[in-house]
Formats: sequence, structure tokens, C-alpha cells
Amino acid sequence: MVEHRSLTRTVRRPYVASVLLDCVVVGAGPAGLAASLALTQRGVDHVVLERGRVGHTWRTQRWDSLRLNNPGWMNPMLGPQPRDTYLCASEVARRLDRLAAGCPVRESEAVTRLHRRQDGWLVRAVGGELRARTVVIATGGENVPHTPDLASRLPERIAQCHAANYRAPAQLPGNGVLVVGSAQSGYQIAEELLAAGRRVVVATSAVGRAPAQHRGRPTLEWLVDLGFFDQRPEGLPDPSVVRAPQPLLVPGGRSASLQSLARAGAVVAGRLTTVDNERIGLDASIAANIEFADAFADRIRKTIDDAIVANGLDAPPSALDDAVAPADLHPPQALDLRADGIDSVVWCTGYTGNFSWLDPALTDAAVPATSSAFPRMPQQLPAQSRPTWVVKVRTRRTLPGRHVPRDRRGRARNERGGNDRHARYRSVVNVTTRPSIRTPEPGSGVA
Ligand SMILES: Cc1cc2nc3c(=O)[nH]c(=O)nc-3n(C[C@H](O)[C@H](O)[C@H](O)COP(=O)(O)OP(=O)(O)OC[C@H]3O[C@@H](n4cnc5c(N)ncnc54)[C@H](O)[C@@H]3O)c2cc1C
Repeated sequence: MVEHRSLTRTVRRPYVASVLLDCVVVGAGPAGLAASLALTQRGVDHVVLERGRVGHTWRTQRWDSLRLNNPGWMNPMLGPQPRDTYLCASEVARRLDRLAAGCPVRESEAVTRLHRRQDGWLVRAVGGELRARTVVIATGGENVPHTPDLASRLPERIAQCHAANYRAPAQLPGNGVLVVGSAQSGYQIAEELLAAGRRVVVATSAVGRAPAQHRGRPTLEWLVDLGFFDQRPEGLPDPSVVRAPQPLLVPGGRSASLQSLARAGAVVAGRLTTVDNERIGLDASIAANIEFADAFADRIRKTIDDAIVANGLDAPPSALDDAVAPADLHPPQALDLRADGIDSVVWCTGYTGNFSWLDPALTDAAVPATSSAFPRMPQQLPAQSRPTWVVKVRTRRTLPGRHVPRDRRGRARNERGGNDRHARYRSVVNVTTRPSIRTPEPGSGVA
């Protein structure tokens, strides 16, 4: 017998492959728990399998001082919190634990394979096999740290870690730190190191940025109202933009930019191109990277301006964005790490997800294939739990919770009028909770 972990109740259910569950949810992060709560509300029999502990990513891959970059009002799923607070990672994990009390979660149950079966899916986990009519893939797209090969060419004396393993400045020996990457993690870790009195060089790349405020309101409020986060990849002219780095948006409702990082004291350089023991090369892209970020912010502002005009809204004029105030840049194009006093490197070079356990037929370029064919989750779900990715559904089905036509004996009827006991849940859905601001593309309806 395997026990579901639950703070309020203990549900016992054996791993019996002959039992056909309505649904298996894989992953107990925010997305998996949101799916589980929605399934419970609708009385759908399911289990959540989690490889580690509930909120594993938030417990194991966040630095000590990290705070959410979206304010309390955007995260109703995490429970009551003041509107404009930014929860820290440990508080997020605590609140996810509290949510999980109402969910049938089995921890330490990594799913290793998902196979199609005639009547649904065979889910192979470390503890055994389960059969399910529906599988929700909620294993996250940002929890496998990516470190470029260049890392292996650094001299041994340099202490290096990925942002996923960075915790606090004291962990990094010496004084000078090279931060590689200038998106969310790179920016915030560089800021924290500067505040701790460290010398910081940041190797940047082209990443968008979001202004904190525009026309008298937080930009996030405008974007939520404009339906920005409800967009689907399939609706974008270039769906690959959803895999672009998240634009820079820092907690606390202030704007951030490469210029502001330079003004705070960082040496802001172009992209890291070569590593040859103590010698590193940086390209001349810093001006282009600043331009890219500022143009991105302009597109967001224009989206809002256009919506104000289109809807005849009364909004104050645009205020000056102090993030664009010029900075005195002296970007180096090469550094001798020893001579320049660099003793540590933090790789803020992003994350992917691990979908190698999926049947390859369900993936497209190693991530779950998506399709607009899948219906939306019900609108009464909290905003943060709306799915933004959906796996291509290869069988005819309806979603749990949707009306299922039944015959006089209560059996589900299929679309041709016959009985189909399994039609209800024969599907796979992939959900993620990120209320992402992605690169607004001209013509995407947001820029
Ligand atoms: C540094 C950083 C900061 C971020 N800050 C924010 C922020 O401020 N606001 C925000 O909205 N988003 C933020 N995000 C994005 C954040 O990752 C998502 O919002 C959120 O955690 C995604 O939830 P999820 O459930 O999809 O994935 P995850 O939180 O990654 O959860 C996936 C779960 O699936 C489990 N799992 C994985 N593989 C398996 C398997 N094979 N079998 C069983 N279980 C498995 C994992 O252990 C994990 O518990 C940040 C991301 C990073 C990297």
C-alpha cells in the first residue's frame, strides 16, 4: 500500500495497474496543485505524483532572498496576502504545502514513463504503475538548470554555480563575481552582490524588460486587464516566443534595466563568448542589448496606450521611466579573471524542463506539443492557475468537468450516440502557472 501525503487525511490506495483512475497529475508544484484542486472541486478521482516534496522547485532552486516578482493580488491561489506584497520563496513553499493538504499527493514518486494504452494511459512511477484516463503534465518548464559548455573551461580556482544553487553572497569566495546572464536571476543576484559590497561584472544578452508602471497603473494590472496572460502560444504569429527568456521584472514595483544595474555599480558588458582558462571574451552587444530591452518596454507601453485609446479610457499621461536614465558604461571586451579580481562565477543562464519521460509522440522539440484544440480550463480557477500550455490531444475526448451526454442508464454517450465509458477523460493536458510576460510581437494582439 502507498499512502497519499495529506495533512488532513490519509488516503490509502495501492499501485494496481488494473484500476483505471480518472486522472493522474504529474508534479506537485503550483500547476499540479491547481489542477488537483480543480479536479477535487469537480469530484474527479485522481492522484498527484511528485518526485520530491510538494513545491520541490521552490524549496530547492531559489536563493534565500528571492521574492516573487508578481504581487499578492496576482496570486490568489497562494491564499490571503496583502495586495502589494511579494512573497519570499520559503513562504511560497509553505503556502503550497498548505494547499496540498487538500490534495491526494504522493511525494517521492518520480514518474519515469508515460505510455498510451487503448483505454487511456499507463503511468510508470518509481513505486509502480498506474492506469489513467487522463494525465496532467505539471512537471514545470523551468526546473532543469542550463549551464553553457563554456563553464568547463574556467580554471579550477574559480568557484562557480548555477543560479539554482546560489543561495547568498557569503557562499561565493573572494570579492569579484562574474554574473553570466541579465534576465530575472542575473539582475537580482547581481543587485544582491553589489549590496553586499562585492565587485560585479555582468555578461548580458538580449532580454526584454517590463516597465513597472505606465499611465498611472502598474503595468501588470494593465496586462491582466488586457488579457495578455490568457494568450495561447498557438494564437501568436511566432509561438516560439513563449520559449524566449522572461522579460526583466523585479519585485517591489520598480523598473529595472541594464542602465540601472550599471548605475548601481555593476560593470555591464556584452555577451560572454569565449573562456580560455583565466581569459574571457565578451562581445560588443551591450548597446544592442540595452536597445532591445528598451524597445520591448516601449512595445508594452504602446500596447497599453492603444488599449486606452481603443476603449476611450481616462488615464494620466505617461510618466518618465527613470530606468532609461543614461549610465556611464565602459564595457570590457576581454577580462583576465585573476588580474581583474574575479574569484566566482554565477551562471544565470536559464532553465528548461525535463520531458524525456513522455512518449516522444507527445513532444515537439523535446517539450510537450501544444494545440489550441484543447478547451480552456474553467474561468472560475484563480488567475494564476490558468493553463498556458496544452499538449496536442490525439484522441477524441472531453475535459473532466464538462457536460458529458449520458444515456438512460447514466452511461456516457460518445459523439456518434453510442456508449463510451472512457471518452470523458482520455486526454493529456500540460499546465503551467507562470503568468508570463513573453515577448510581445507585432501583430500578436499585444504589441
Ligand atoms: C528563479 C525563478 C524565479 C521565478 N519567479 C517567479 C515569480 O516570481 N512569479 C512567478 O509566477 N513565476 C516565477 N517563476 C516561474 C516558476 O517556476 C513558475 O511560476 C512556477 O513554479 C511553475 O510552476 P509549475 O508547477 O509549472 O512548475 P514547478 O514549480 O517546477 O513544479 C513542477 C513539479 O513537478 C515535479 N516533477 C518534475 N518532474 C517530475 C516527474 N518526472 N515525476 C514527478 N514529479 C516531477 C517537480 O519536482 C516539481 O515539484 C520563477 C522561476 C525561476 C526559475
